Amino acid sequence: MSKKYPRFDSIFKTYKKVHPNGTPPCELCDKPAIVRIFMEVNYMNGDDEDFRVCDEHLKLAKSDGEGFYKAYFAAQENDNGKESSQLEEPVAQREGDHAK
Ligand SMILES: [Zn+2]
Repeated sequence: MSKKYPRFDSIFKTYKKVHPNGTPPCELCDKPAIVRIFMEVNYMNGDDEDFRVCDEHLKLAKSDGEGFYKAYFAAQENDNGKESSQLEEPVAQREGDHAK
């Protein structure tokens, strides 16, 4: 029986011990993260990826690794969308056509 990836591996760090006001946000939403977790993406331990997550997304990671990654990439796209709309710069220049 082969394992299915990505899958939840372990809790690497708990944020309850740090200052309540200094808790970093979840990487999937804006709630405060409670833990840093490792997700296994394949059979290689060295390829494990770590995420800061809130209570809700910790549950998602444990129950549905694939769903967790989908939510993570969706959150990344939202962030990129915000930034790129500010940095957007119309590029309307064209090489002049010197052919006669
Ligand atoms: Zn979250």
